[in-house]
Amino acid sequence: MPAKRSLFVSLFSGCCPKCRIGKVFSHKVFAIMNFSSVKNNCANCGVKFETEPGFFWGAMYFSYALNVGISIVSGFVLYFLFGDPEYWIYISVMVPLILILTPPMVRFSRLLMMYMASPYRKYNPDLNSN
Ligand SMILES: [Zn+2]
Repeated sequence: MPAKRSLFVSLFSGCCPKCRIGKVFSHKVFAIMNFSSVKNNCANCGVKFETEPGFFWGAMYFSYALNVGISIVSGFVLYFLFGDPEYWIYISVMVPLILILTPPMVRFSRLLMMYMASPYRKYNPDLNSN
């Protein structure tokens, strides 16, 4: 029986939700122009990642929620650790933080979309070839 890979490890390493082996993205996270490029098919199990045209548009909802979370956490950190600084300091910390974190957040939101809302989200450990 093949070894099972955990959901947490495969999600954060950008692996296919069905086999948890094949990589989802074709480029590195900070590749300037291609950080969100998803491969057509999984190299291990062959599942087609974009099941229908515009499938990843739904990832915008996850991306929005992640950015709201980043804003709330950074706002609380500034408020409680730096004693409620002036308004421009909130903006000058949050905006660059969100811009810097855009590539990993876009990728993570696409992965969340695949792991939570795709027809191939159910893990099949029998697809592990090793
Ligand atoms: Zn796969």
